[in-house]
Amino acid sequence: MRYLIKAKQNFLEKDSRNSDFLYIGSKILGWYGNNARDLPFRQTKDPYKIWICEIVFQQTRINQGLNHYNNFIKRFPDVKMLAEAEENEVLLYWKGLGYYSRAINIHKAAQQIMNDYQGVFPSQYEEILKLKGVGKYTAAAVSSICFDGKMPAVDGNFYRVLSRLFADDFDISNSRAFTYFSELAALVMPENVGDFNQAMMDIGSEICKPKNPLCGECPINEDCLAFSMQKTSGYPVKTKKVKAEDLALTYYFVHRNGQFLIRQRTEDFIWKKLFEFPTVITSDMEPFITGSKTVAHKLTHKNLSIEILNVEVTSEKIWNDFITENQYLITDVEGSHEKSFPKPLENYIQNSLKD
Ligand code: SF4
Repeated sequence: MRYLIKAKQNFLEKDSRNSDFLYIGSKILGWYGNNARDLPFRQTKDPYKIWICEIVFQQTRINQGLNHYNNFIKRFPDVKMLAEAEENEVLLYWKGLGYYSRAINIHKAAQQIMNDYQGVFPSQYEEILKLKGVGKYTAAAVSSICFDGKMPAVDGNFYRVLSRLFADDFDISNSRAFTYFSELAALVMPENVGDFNQAMMDIGSEICKPKNPLCGECPINEDCLAFSMQKTSGYPVKTKKVKAEDLALTYYFVHRNGQFLIRQRTEDFIWKKLFEFPTVITSDMEPFITGSKTVAHKLTHKNLSIEILNVEVTSEKIWNDFITENQYLITDVEGSHEKSFPKPLENYIQNSLKD
C-alpha cells in the first residue's frame, strides 16, 4: 500500500517512470477472464454491433436495453441496412430507450460510413471520432474492442474506480477530468486495452457502485486506497452540479371518433423528430375542452410540467377546418404504435381513449 502511495505521488509530480501499476491492470484482466458478464455483444468484434451497443447502453441499464438492442440489430443487422432505412423507422426501433437524438445521430453516422468510408467501419480512433454523435468514450471503446486500439474508454465507471483506487480528489466536473483520468488509467492499463475497458465497465457497474460498493468482491480491494481508509463514499469528488431547469409545456389532445391529431417536431430542442399533439388550438375549439391532466417528467437537465388538455371535437366542420389550416396528421391508438412519441404523450395516448 505504501508503494502505491509513493507511486501515486510520482504520478502527480509527473515522474511516473518508476511507477509500476501494471500489476493492478493484470488483476483486473484476470478477474475479467473469470467474471465477464455474458452479454450478446461480447461474442462479437463487429465494430458496427459494438458501436450500436455502446450508444444504446450509454444512458440505459443493460437489463432495460437488451431487448431493444437485440431488436435493433435484428432489423438493422449492418451499417448498409441502417443507412438505407427511413429515419422514422430508426426512431421507431429506438422507442422506449429515450434520448432520441442518439438514434438520429447513429442513422446519420451510418450514412457517413457509407459515403465517406465506402461502407467499411473506420478502424482508427481519430476516424471513429469523426462519426456523428461519437464521443471520445465510444471511439475508445470501439477502437480498443474491435481494432486493438490503445485508448482507455473513460466514463463515469473509470472516474469512480480510479478515484477510489488512488483516493484521488481530482474534481470530475473539471473540464480537464477526462484527460486527467485517461492519464491515470494509462498507468494501470495492460496491453489488452479492449478487455481492460470492458472489465472496468463491469467492475464500475456491478461492484464499484456509486453507493455501497461491494468492496469485498472487488479484485483490487487490496490496492484500493479509499477502501483501506474506509472513505469510498468520498470519491469521486464532484463540485459543480448542473441545476435542472423548470419548463412548462401545454398540449391539446384534439380527438374525434377515436382519432386524434399529431405533428412531427422539427425544432432544435427537446424531442426533435418525435411526434406530439397540437400546442395551440383556435378559439372556436375552446368549448370542446372537457378536462386536463398535468404530468411531471424529468429529462437530464430539465424538469418538465406538462399540461394536456382533452379536446373532444363534436363539430365535423371545426375538426376539418382545424386540420386543413394547420396540416396536422390524423391517427388513432393503433396507428400511433408506428410512430415515436415522447414518453409522457405515449402514456397519455394509451390511457386516454380507454376512458
Ligand atoms: S475496493 Fe471498493 S472502492 Fe475500491 S475499487 Fe474496489 S469496489 Fe471500488
